[in-house]
Amino acid sequence: MKALPQGSTIGILGGGQLGRFLVIAAHHLGYRSIVLDPDPHCPAGQVGGKLIVAAYDDQEALELLASRIAVATYEFENVSVASVERLQTLGVPVRPGLKALTVAQNRIQEKTLCLGLGIPTAPFAAVTEYADLIAALRHIGFPLMVKTTTGGYDGKGQRVVRDAKHVEAVWRELGAGSRPLIVEGWIDFAWEASIIVARDVNGGLQYFPLVENQHVDGILDVTVAPAQGGNALEEKAKEYAGALAVALELVGILAVEFFVTRDGRLLVNELAPRPHNSGHYTMEATRVSQYEEMVRAVVELPLADPNLLFPAAMVNLLGDLWLGRPGGPDFSQALAIPGSHLYLYGKSEPRPGRKMGHLTVVDNAGERAASAALRARRLMSVDDG
Ligand code: AMP
Repeated sequence: MKALPQGSTIGILGGGQLGRFLVIAAHHLGYRSIVLDPDPHCPAGQVGGKLIVAAYDDQEALELLASRIAVATYEFENVSVASVERLQTLGVPVRPGLKALTVAQNRIQEKTLCLGLGIPTAPFAAVTEYADLIAALRHIGFPLMVKTTTGGYDGKGQRVVRDAKHVEAVWRELGAGSRPLIVEGWIDFAWEASIIVARDVNGGLQYFPLVENQHVDGILDVTVAPAQGGNALEEKAKEYAGALAVALELVGILAVEFFVTRDGRLLVNELAPRPHNSGHYTMEATRVSQYEEMVRAVVELPLADPNLLFPAAMVNLLGDLWLGRPGGPDFSQALAIPGSHLYLYGKSEPRPGRKMGHLTVVDNAGERAASAALRARRLMSVDDG
């Protein structure tokens, strides 16, 4: 393995918070970065890397980017496959790679890949016509989860159908056949989990710990590391994540989200070949962060073992906390909690559900870290007077 020379430039498609932390990690390791994002004020554009302001499919911008970088990566999976192909045609390797991107953009492809590898998922069916929805319903039964096959994130583009009365309304709400849908059986899970696997250019694998995630309205709310469930469950998660990384020909990191059933089985829900919200805690709590591990893979430096150093919990800080507080929340009490670390993403426009920042607390037990992180967030919403 021969790493890219120090000072080489990494192109990053997408300038959100994940891109921002990638830029910082790249700079720590002595690499430069150029971010492509349509927003001149994007979070990743504020931390010292260069920024090209353009749409992800702007051909001139892609050519300019390609002429200035040695390798490229992406911070979200909805960047178009055509843009990644264009960069490759212009001679730039893109990591984690085209196959990982193509599969992760499409919920049917994700689940079909899992099926082929013998990895369990929720029962599912592809839906393009109303008749498919009715057939899936007979086959899978209520309640059903109906999702857009591509483009959905943070609970967007998905509806639960609890009974026959609501089937037609959901069909209309999700575009009445104008875009492909997937129907999934509703999983009455006990809890949700995720794991991040890293794979280097020679196929070497490293695993971050299995963590527990709680979602509210489809958006990640709390991550606790390590997850409950013990070694056997974590080993199973590693087995599945490793097999997926290999099948996707991954060079980089992959987050795998799971439902944990009441009888202790793991069902894969989603794949993300990029840094993941549920991996923010790695900035404090593991030997290497998910961002540094991604950069190491991308520039062909050796991967590090991402062992857990101490338990941690992360809470997302959504725009709702800002609303009605013109100066923003007051963070001073939260930061007085021992072991707390605050990250704000530099987004000037708070909106409900928009991820504005996060807070991680490290402690000597996951549950203590979680209750401290939740308390810290409550303290941000206590108004003076
Ligand atoms: P997703 O966009 O697929 O990650 O879904 C967001 C969240 O919605 C998940 O983390 C779950 O909390 C919930 N969810 C999604 N699909 C299902 C399902 N088939 N059964 C039960 N809950 C689901």
